[in-house]
Parts: sequence; structure tokens; C-alpha cells
Amino acid sequence: MRQALRPLLVLMLVLLAGQGRAEEALRVEEVAPGVYVHAGAVALMSRANRGDIANIGFVVGGRSVAVIDTGGSVAVARGLLAAIRKVTDKPVSHVINTHMHPDHVFGNAAFAGLNAVFAGHRNLPRALEARGEHYLRANRALIGDSLVGEVKIIAPTLLVDEEATIDLGGRPLRLRAWPAAHTDNDLTVLDEETGTLFAGDLLFMDHVPVVDGSIKRWLEVLDALSRIPALRVVPGHGPTSAPWPEALLPERRYLERLAADIRAAIAEGRQLSEAAQTAGQSESASWRLFEEFNARNATAAFSELEWE
Ligand SMILES: [Zn+2]
Repeated sequence: MRQALRPLLVLMLVLLAGQGRAEEALRVEEVAPGVYVHAGAVALMSRANRGDIANIGFVVGGRSVAVIDTGGSVAVARGLLAAIRKVTDKPVSHVINTHMHPDHVFGNAAFAGLNAVFAGHRNLPRALEARGEHYLRANRALIGDSLVGEVKIIAPTLLVDEEATIDLGGRPLRLRAWPAAHTDNDLTVLDEETGTLFAGDLLFMDHVPVVDGSIKRWLEVLDALSRIPALRVVPGHGPTSAPWPEALLPERRYLERLAADIRAAIAEGRQLSEAAQTAGQSESASWRLFEEFNARNATAAFSELEWE
């Protein structure tokens, strides 16, 4: 009798955990022992991809699991949770957000109620406070009302000022908060046991980098990042992992090109509108979504660099 009821009980728990929806597990790759990554599509948020456009993952320690970014919708995050449950039944003790962008934080609500601690850069609560409502509004048009309707903007309570360590049970994760680069709230996570660095959007691969912080500081941050003794990196967008630090080179080349072109345009007295059309164009064939983001990056870089 007891045996017969067990599958039913498990099903009920799954349904409860998913607030009535059992989600199919996301496909994850074990990029190093105990380190799992799901590769999001290199695309804009859309109804078709449900906001599943960022790389998200988890690390399994001796006692518990840490989730690193939750994806662009609660549905995607439920899929991540289902993937975790296929690997381990250890509790999720930490949810780490690498920065404020919707494709990395919109899934947070799937992990609320699990007693997990949310962790992020010291600037992340302020950034979510300032941008959260706008992100919800803007994404209704992209992924639809029903997916956005489930999203709750959940700010971290474990705030990282410079560095912090969380322990998953004999498995420390080193969290590091960076100066304004991709955004003003970028955080990286290093799993020392395997030398795996979760770079968040401080590293874009395939997907053209997006400047929402400071192009100047970002180039400086790349120098400091490259000295981190890791073996592999999980970029915020692109493949599930890549060799470290070589993986940084294309992004560095793009940001240096863009900054040099913008500085030249400013020196020649060109207008922002003209510079936005021409700067960085030599990189166009090297990146996906270049048309969607390059002019915006050039505009941001112009506003920043015209005052140096
Ligand atoms: Zn981002």
C-alpha cells in the first residue's frame, strides 16, 4: 500500500513545487565534476524561447546546491529546478544572481520558498529597485503577459561588497563583486574545486557584448579577470564553457575596437548619431545580434568617452 502511494505522493510534491505546473527539466551539461550548465539561446527574449537566452547553472556541494542565475522566466527556472532534481536531492541553499538583467533574474521566484539565500553584488538591490518595473513592462511585449505575470523581482539579501565565500559543504564558492563594467552590479563565481569561473555577462561569446555600465572600466576589469586562476569559464551567453583565459580575447578585441573608433570620432568632432553608425563595424561579421546591439553600445561609449 505504502509503496503504491509513493509515486502519487512524489507527483503531488512536484505539482506543488511548480505551483501547479510540472516543468520539463532543462538540458544541462556537466562541464566539470558537480558543475552543471544550461546554454540559453543566442537570441533576444521571445515568446518562442520563453526568455531562455542566458547561460544558467548550478554547483552541487557536499551538503547543498547553489544556483547561478535563474533565466528569463519562472518557467525556465522551474525547468532548471527539475534538472537539479534529476542530479541530486540536496537542498538549494543559495541563489546567486550575476547581475540585474531580466534574462538572469526573472526566474528567481521559482526558488523562493525553498529557504535559499539570494546573493548578489552590493549594488544589485538598488539596480533592481530602479529598473525592475521597467524590465517587467518592457518584457511583456517580448515574452508575453502570462510569463511576465509570474515574475517577482527578488533582490539579494546576501550582499557582496568585494569578496565573499559561500560553503556548499566542503565546496567553497568565491563570489567577487566588480566595478561598473557590463553593468554596475556584476558578480563572478569561482568554484575552486574544479577551477570553473562563472563570469556572468562580464564575458559574452558568440553574442555581441552589451555595454550597460562602462566600456572603460570593463576593459580594466578584463585585465583583473584574466588573472583569476581558473581552468574554464562559463560565459553569460554562448557555449556552456570555454578554456580560460583565452575565451576573453574576442570580447576584448570588440570592446577595444569600439572604444578606439569612438575616441577617433570624438577627436574628429563627429556627431554621436554618425559615430553610432560607423563605430565597431569592422567587428560585425564576428558576432551574432550585432545589428541589435552595436549602435546602442556605440552610443553608450560615446556618452562615456566624450568626457575623458
Ligand atoms: Zn546582461
